[in-house]
Amino acid sequence: MRNQNFIVSILLSMCLLLTTPLTYADSDEADKSVLEIAANVYSFSLDGGYISMFVVTDEGVMVFETMNSGHAKAMVAAIKKITDKPIKYAFQSHNHWDHASGGQVLLDAGADTIAHAEAIAWMEANPGRDTVLPQTSWEGNRKDMELGGVKVELHYLGMNHGLGMTVFILPQLNIAYIADIVTPNRIIFSVAPDFNLREWERSLGEILALDFEKAVFSHNELPNPLAGGNKEHVALQLKYIKDLRAAFFAELQQGTNPMLIPKQLKLPEYENWVGYSDWLEMNVWRILADEFMGPFPWRPEPQQTNQ
Ligand SMILES: [Zn+2]
Repeated sequence: MRNQNFIVSILLSMCLLLTTPLTYADSDEADKSVLEIAANVYSFSLDGGYISMFVVTDEGVMVFETMNSGHAKAMVAAIKKITDKPIKYAFQSHNHWDHASGGQVLLDAGADTIAHAEAIAWMEANPGRDTVLPQTSWEGNRKDMELGGVKVELHYLGMNHGLGMTVFILPQLNIAYIADIVTPNRIIFSVAPDFNLREWERSLGEILALDFEKAVFSHNELPNPLAGGNKEHVALQLKYIKDLRAAFFAELQQGTNPMLIPKQLKLPEYENWVGYSDWLEMNVWRILADEFMGPFPWRPEPQQTNQ
């Protein structure tokens, strides 16, 4: 019975999400949901919490991150107000339900949905309430695509967060789309769920070496999240993780009982970042677990197949 109530409440909230777009197109909210951050490049969000990107080219539109059906429907409506070009590609950055849902909306709009094979394998094993399997799978560390003369580089940097995590670079425009592994102006979310911290640090170093200036981040706590950020925010994300670990080891060296460190440790440099008062202690527990148990989650690198 409790389960049924839970399912009913989930369905109700999904219905609410699904009805939002019906009023969306004519409301003042429409303008606040979309921002053109460079010529023909737009960021989109319904509530500021989850941010997608789309690019309009001469041959059609490319969408980065579908999120969920409510978000995707509102985004398709927003795109149709800007261009009558068809939506050709909808990229999904990684496997997690809160990012990779809503694919059916883009399929219905005529787009090809695309994700890394590792993300698709997980989605196949763990279907969500609002997920469908992406149509097109890609493997390995790099894939280059193009639409209407606009190039897109798909970079898989290995383990960092979730499965198949893809960083998207639009080299001609100097723009990146980065999900979950960089969130400007916010400390790490709670206990860093499904993040391998060491691999995350390595990946951030590799992202800093990629060729872009501006970036749209799927989560962004700067005053105007739709405006995106830049490479400096990648560097700051990396600095925070390093500072957190260094502060933990400084406490250990002072002889502090490890079990008391999460409550005691402070990082005043970051006290204005979102989540500082609620999540810093959880961030430290995660560092503690990681340093005592070893990095997790972890898996062997997939065997290279001869093709
Ligand atoms: Zn995620």
